[in-house]
Amino acid sequence: MKRIVILRLGHRPVRDKRITTHVGLTARAFGAEGMLLASDDRKLADNILDVAKRWGGNFYVKNDVNWKTEIRKWKEEGGKVCHLSMYGVNLPDVVGDIGQCEDLMVVVGAEKVPFEIYEMADWNVAVGNQPHSEVAAVAVTLDRIASIDPLKNEFNGGDLKIIPAERGKKVIDNRQEGPGSS
Ligand code: SAM
Repeated sequence: MKRIVILRLGHRPVRDKRITTHVGLTARAFGAEGMLLASDDRKLADNILDVAKRWGGNFYVKNDVNWKTEIRKWKEEGGKVCHLSMYGVNLPDVVGDIGQCEDLMVVVGAEKVPFEIYEMADWNVAVGNQPHSEVAAVAVTLDRIASIDPLKNEFNGGDLKIIPAERGKKVIDNRQEGPGSS
């Protein structure tokens, strides 16, 4: 897999603020290059970008996109689209096919998703055919389709870096001098 982009649909600025933030941060942590937000919430986009900047890497958020235009463009450029829905085919049954594609757009909903998405997607995929959360669906999907363990991703250029510790918190903060802890 060369590129993974998340398309977040149906985000309602007040109600979904926290969960959409978590979708973006989870996508970043598990190897997506960016998130397209099909709603206008500049503040939320900036909050995710702020975290991404502090913790490194090149994650981007594109605010207020037109989902149909983005899906069409992605497909025209040869990318594939995986729509996450509890009604879809179960992930273990298609993970091999999805893992082979080069560029993948992962679509996650909030409220009811327009039916056209089901038709435009190359795969409608369930992370188990039970209702749960878009954050869990994104994490499990990105983990299962990865060829290299996403938990070992490195994020360069940030201000903050955690040094794994058996107890306590060890954080290198490049804004201060030398290693510190918090
Ligand atoms: N009620 C909505 C519907 O009927 O489409 C779904 C609401 S659900 C909380 C929000 C999003 O989480 C869905 O659009 C889907 O992307 C994701 N999701 C929830 N459970 C899922 C599952 N088992 N498999 C894949 N995606 C899931």
